[in-house]
Amino acid sequence: MAANSTQLKTQLVRLDSDLEITPNASLAKLTTFKVGGRAQWLALPKHPDQLKDAVAWGNQQGHPITVLGAGSNLLVSDRGLPGLIICTRALRHSEFDATTGRVVATAGEPWSSLAWKAARNGLQGFEWTIGIPGTVGGAVVMNAGAHGRETADILVETEVLDLDGTLQVLKPDDLDYRYRTSNLQGSDCIVTSATFQLSPGHRSDDVKAATADDLKQRRTTQPYHLPNCGSVFRNPKPYSAGQLIEQAGLKGYQMGEAQISTLHANFIVNLGGAKADDVLALIRHAQAVIFERNGVELETEVKLVGLFE
Ligand SMILES: Cc1cc2nc3c(=O)[nH]c(=O)nc-3n(C[C@H](O)[C@H](O)[C@H](O)COP(=O)(O)OP(=O)(O)OC[C@H]3O[C@@H](n4cnc5c(N)ncnc54)[C@H](O)[C@@H]3O)c2cc1C
Repeated sequence: MAANSTQLKTQLVRLDSDLEITPNASLAKLTTFKVGGRAQWLALPKHPDQLKDAVAWGNQQGHPITVLGAGSNLLVSDRGLPGLIICTRALRHSEFDATTGRVVATAGEPWSSLAWKAARNGLQGFEWTIGIPGTVGGAVVMNAGAHGRETADILVETEVLDLDGTLQVLKPDDLDYRYRTSNLQGSDCIVTSATFQLSPGHRSDDVKAATADDLKQRRTTQPYHLPNCGSVFRNPKPYSAGQLIEQAGLKGYQMGEAQISTLHANFIVNLGGAKADDVLALIRHAQAVIFERNGVELETEVKLVGLFE
């Protein structure tokens, strides 16, 4: 679709597909951490044509393009992001086949919501996704996982759009899946949808009960009551990042309004007015302390986007 645009007085841009591209939009609102500056331009496509249109417009304007799902694994710089930010969270749709166990979902479908829908259809295999506040696209790219299960285990294929506007279908073997990452990370491909294979024919009530147990366990061990980005550090095998940080006495340690959670030491929470710079200072402090005490280099799982320091 041609990306002809109309400039309105507000500088907001409206494309042929009726997609609005908003200048100077808050990114803090689009992340679970609730920190970060502004997007030079923000697009929230609601259907695939709008997504293509956004990419074409970004290319025409020569803007770098950054993709955001639910922003639940991101630390966005206080200085904001240049270029076009495409947030996929409005691309929401999923279909479940209770007989075959096949599930097809679009990029913005909330990952966690699939768990309840699968349970209603008597499908096993999505229980562990409950409580992970990302999107399907983010899970496919990050290889989201929990309790020894990960996205790569259940992915059949994913459709991606490249920056030339070409769609292609990729299989898990194409994606070089590893611990919490894939070769889609940092690539020019935008995940548009994914197909998963679950196990059919289970009692819906049993799957619901297992899902509810997983959720309860998360809610009691992780700080869901405050904005955060999930695990800040990867577990440096054979250690647990959270245990190392807790043993170093850093639970509750605070910089500005960013605090190492008192509930789970691998989480940093935003107590209200945290800045991305506060969070990064806390990350650097924890890394220095753990290196000094244990000789272990903690690597971040959260992705830093934009300019820092
Ligand atoms: C309370 C809490 C608990 C969490 N628990 C877990 C857990 O148990 N296990 C786990 O793995 N993670 C966990 N996370 C982290 C996070 O939810 C996952 O990494 C999730 O998969 C990120 O998805 P997202 O849509 O938010 O991606 P974002 O954070 O928006 O983006 C992450 C990366 O994926 C890219 N991306 C996103 N969507 C697309 C797309 N459509 N196409 C191409 N690239 C895309 C982005 O560019 C970025 O590089 C947790 C987070 C929180 C806040």
